[in-house]
Formats: sequence, structure tokens, C-alpha cells
Amino acid sequence: MKVYKFGGASVRNADGVRNLHRLIGDERNLFVIVSAMGKTTNALERVFEGLQKSDRALVAEEIAALRAYHAGIVDDLWHAPVRLECVEALFAELERYVAGTVYRPEEAEAHYDTIVAYGELLSTTIISEYLAHAGSANRWIDMRRCFRTEQRHKDAAVDIEASAPLLRAAVAEGGEGLFVGQGFIGGAPDGTTTTLGREGSDYSAAVVAHILDAESMSVWKDVDGVLNADPKIFPDAVQIAELNYLDTIELAYSGAQIIHPKTIKPLQNKNIPLYVRPFGDKRKPGTVIRGMSAPVEVPILILKKSQVLLTIRSRDFSFVLEEKFASIFSLLERFRIKANLIHNSAVNLSLCVDESWHIDEAIRALREAGFDVMKAERMELLTIRGYTDELWHRYACGPQVFIRQATQSTVRIVRKRE
Ligand code: ASP
Ligand code: MG
Repeated sequence: MKVYKFGGASVRNADGVRNLHRLIGDERNLFVIVSAMGKTTNALERVFEGLQKSDRALVAEEIAALRAYHAGIVDDLWHAPVRLECVEALFAELERYVAGTVYRPEEAEAHYDTIVAYGELLSTTIISEYLAHAGSANRWIDMRRCFRTEQRHKDAAVDIEASAPLLRAAVAEGGEGLFVGQGFIGGAPDGTTTTLGREGSDYSAAVVAHILDAESMSVWKDVDGVLNADPKIFPDAVQIAELNYLDTIELAYSGAQIIHPKTIKPLQNKNIPLYVRPFGDKRKPGTVIRGMSAPVEVPILILKKSQVLLTIRSRDFSFVLEEKFASIFSLLERFRIKANLIHNSAVNLSLCVDESWHIDEAIRALREAGFDVMKAERMELLTIRGYTDELWHRYACGPQVFIRQATQSTVRIVRKRE
């Protein structure tokens, strides 16, 4: 078995779906994981906000736009104004859910998951129907039934042991060796829909590869492979031919948008190679990520945007580190806030974290627990692995730099956004 993963950008229009079909070709014994088309997940997040704020007009407007967008892709694929019943049924379900749900703040994340999951349900339904129509018989797999996750919404981990028999049974039912399943979603033990974290489809594909003992996983992207930096920010970016799992996990964790950080572990555990390949050209080699590759030689620059710097100090001046670490981190964990960088002094603990809707709530809770908290917004975190003197002077110095942490090989810089 091989696993292919297609992200939202690669299936954002009919040409993308036709291209997916071309890339699959006559490959069988293949499990295809697909994300929501284009910016659908963002639109569904606005549907959720509409529910949250009881803004019916917003909900109606967003769903109407999503209907038109998906209908446009279907019409283009079938070269005719076609209405697919299964797509209509999904929209009807979504509308019924939003209309019939009384919003409860304590269930916000469960509502969110149920709503945003429709992006992947729609994309895989359309793609499965189109592949069949174009002569590639396949089986649509409902990942809500095959991935058993932990009982946690918005950022659930897949319980691999519990999921393995479910997924294997679904695959054993046949499907001409071609399977189409949703990235990003699963089902909790209580039967509700869960999601695995934004951009989580890579992780889905890796878990599928792990469970089915795939020979490889390929992620088809709109770049030629993994670069040492984002070319939009660092103009002299170059492509990397091979990476090992360890470097990749560090890169992903630092914010390189190659692959979701949770993707590597399931692959590493079974030594499954991961190919990052350009969807525009099947002949190009892309980048391969596997265990034995040597460490990379060019410097790698990763910029994580949308950061907030929290500086936490105990009000009674006790040494934060010695006494309060555990309580601070468990409080942050409750609000799903993860520290991307930690810096401490005698009485201060500074944390660089992603901007999120929970930060102000977390700050309130920290204050109630006896801490002073300062928040610096509009920050970014730049990580340079294998830095040179020149890169050091260019990026690690200057008044916009708030924190700089360096080892012999890596420097991490928290700085004010320009
Ligand atoms: N559709 C989801 C998102 O946009 C998952 C993914 O794309 O991987 O976050
Ligand atoms: Mg996406």
C-alpha cells in the first residue's frame, strides 16, 4: 500500500482534481487522503463563529458561498450543471446541524469540530465520485469511523491501537485497491466528530501509512520540495534533496510549513519514507525524508509568524522557576497554549506562544493564580539552524530583537514584527 496526501491548495479547483486523477493514474493499492478544498476550512470556521454569535445572516452567507464554490467545481468536472445528491445531502446535514443546535460555550469545541469536518467530507465525496465517473473505481472511507481519537476536541490525537482494526476492516471490504479518505478528522469514543488540529491532514496520512504498513507516503504540494527557507521571505532559498526524521521534526516544530509536526512519529516508528513532491510534475524528485539521511548542510531559516510573548512573574517575588513551573504549564495546557520558546531568569518566565483566541482567558487565569503577566503582541519567532556570522548579524541583532537563544548550531530569535 502507498499513501498519497493532497492538501487544500492542490484541490482548490477542477483543474486540481483532474491533476489528482492524473497523478493517481493506474496506481492501485493506494490510499488517498484529501484536505478540504481551497480555503473551505476558514469559511467553515466563520460558520462556527456565526453559530457562536447567533448571527444567522453570516451562517447563511458563508454556507451559500461554499455551496456555490463546490457546485462550480462539480460543474467544471462534469462539464455540465450536475447536482450530486451526496454533496447536497452533506450541505443539508450541515444546515440542519447549525439550525438545530443551541450554542453552549462549554461545548464550543465540539460544535467547531462537527462543523469544520464538512470541508473534508465534501472534498472527498466530490473526488471519490469524480474518480468513479472518470473510470477509477474506488471506495470512500469515512474517517470519523476509522480513526478513534482521544476524547478531546480541536486538537485530538489518534488512538492508533483502537483505530487499526477499524481502518483495516474498512480497507478489507475492497474498493478495487483505491481508497479516498478525509484528512484532519476522526471520531471520539462518545461518537462525536473530532479534528486533529489545523493543517492536520498530513498527520492523518501518516497514521494511515502506519496502520496499513505502507511502503511510502507522498505529500503532493505546490512547491518542488522542501526548501531551506520560505522564498517569499528569504530570497536565496534552495531545495533540500534529503532530510532525516530528526531534522524534519525540528523544522516542523520551529514552524517550517513543510509538514505538520505530528506527522513524523507514526512514520518514524515504522521507518516509512515520506516524499514531498510537486503536484505539477510527477517526474521531479522532490524531497525524501527518511531515517538514514545525513544532516543537512545549508543553513535553515524558519519564521513562525503571529506570535505573542508572555512574561510571567510571581506577584510575591518567589522564584518562578523553582516553585511554579508545573502550575503555569498545566494552566496553559488547559487553554491549549503551547510554548514555542521558553526563557527564564530569576523571577521571570517568558514564553513565546502562537496567537490564539484563548490567550486572554489564560492571562486572566494566570492573574487569578497570583502572577503578573505582560503580553507583547505582533511578535515573530525566527529559528536559524546552522547559522553563519553573516546570518547572525543580519537577524540576531538590532532593537527589534527581544530574546535570542543560541546553541552552537541553532539560534532562535523572538523579535517584533516589522
Ligand atoms: N482542512 C484543514 C485545514 O485547513 C486540514 C488540512 O488542510 O490539513 O486546516
Ligand atoms: Mg488546508
